[in-house]
Amino acid sequence: MDGWLPGARRVPSPNHGPRPVGVQPWLVVLHSISLPPGEYGGPWIERLFTNTLDWDAHPYFQSIRGLEVSAHFLIRRDGEWVQFVALDRRAWHAGRSSWQGHENCNDFSVGIELEGLEGDPFADAQYAALAALLASLRARLPALCAVAGHEHVAPGRKRDPGAGFDWARLIRLTGWPAAWFASDAPARPNACGQPPVPGA
Ligand SMILES: [Zn+2]
Repeated sequence: MDGWLPGARRVPSPNHGPRPVGVQPWLVVLHSISLPPGEYGGPWIERLFTNTLDWDAHPYFQSIRGLEVSAHFLIRRDGEWVQFVALDRRAWHAGRSSWQGHENCNDFSVGIELEGLEGDPFADAQYAALAALLASLRARLPALCAVAGHEHVAPGRKRDPGAGFDWARLIRLTGWPAAWFASDAPARPNACGQPPVPGA
């Protein structure tokens, strides 16, 4: 499989690794990011994900100095898709996390960043672009059957995309079963038919 989507602008990130052998991605983790927080349209997110951010360019960047992270995709405010990591590779977005009893979500997820600020609304163009991206992913990744926020897979530690994200709207736009979405079934075990986790 070529893990790059033709509709996305490619900005390859060095921050990725192999997925565990035999693991097919079945989860999408949604995030929000803006650099500096609340400012949109700048080059900083792409520089962060490619390890080329000048940490001295803004006072806020001091607080994330040295961070090496990535996501598979960024959806900018105008709906543009930017892809940083191929789908068959493990991107570095979720950190310590678990979903439906499965630890380390980076192993089995696709990470999508929405340019935005947690708690604030997202743009109409971003919902349309996200729904189209999910449809495109589902066509390539037949195991895909769950969508959660970073706040759901790392509760208490992360809060993005936050209260400004309209889950009901995304469910409507995708036409997917509501049970696939964290907002509808936060703790439903094995909604995807994933193998049970002993003791979970
Ligand atoms: Zn996040």
